[in-house]
Amino acid sequence: MRVLVLGPPGAGKGTQVKFIVERFGIPHISTGDIFRQAVAKRTKLGLMVKQYLSEGKLVPDELTIDLVKRRLKKKDTWNGFVLDGFPRTLVQAKALDEMTDIDRVIYIKVSPKEIVRRLAGRRTCLSCKAVYHIKHNKPRKEGVCDGCGSPLRQRDDDKEDTIRDRLEVYNRQTVPLLRYYSRAGKLVTIDGSLGIEGIAEEIRKVLG
Ligand code: AMP
Repeated sequence: MRVLVLGPPGAGKGTQVKFIVERFGIPHISTGDIFRQAVAKRTKLGLMVKQYLSEGKLVPDELTIDLVKRRLKKKDTWNGFVLDGFPRTLVQAKALDEMTDIDRVIYIKVSPKEIVRRLAGRRTCLSCKAVYHIKHNKPRKEGVCDGCGSPLRQRDDDKEDTIRDRLEVYNRQTVPLLRYYSRAGKLVTIDGSLGIEGIAEEIRKVLG
């Protein structure tokens, strides 16, 4: 089960990936999470990528590809994995094809207007990475994660200006991947307006 989840920022990829991971017991590989952790821990990698993340720009391909290559060599990926946030460019997609064979590419389709609405209200748990929305998916207690009790915060790159930059980058760099995977016969498009449960159900149908 080697799955890739594609979609604009705010499509709900993280939430759906969690379901897939629980269902199949395969690791979740999110390049965004790896980069954010590195920034938080101030590692060498973190210092290199900090600026890109805060401006909503893509980290250079070479660095990102190298990171994923090393991650996919770990034993826990032998039964499969879910990639989230990678690949984001054609160069990355081609590099991934050299590393492994992807079985399915799940594309969660959401309109740009809806994305801005979702991301601007998104709040993320500092600790367990659970995501909430200030209007549509409120935690029981404001600013506190239901699951682990840690504080919720707005990601720096979820501020409105950066969201627009991220969307622009997505349209320019990542949208061409849809055609790439469609041609390879691997793309499955799912309507992102179906809601968390509806999308999960569609994904279950596809992955079995
Ligand atoms: P995400 O959590 O997937 O939205 O990623 C957050 C940020 O990490 C992005 O805006 C980029 O700056 C960086 N990033 C994550 N994945 C990649 C990737 N595959 N290629 C380049 N930059 C990435």
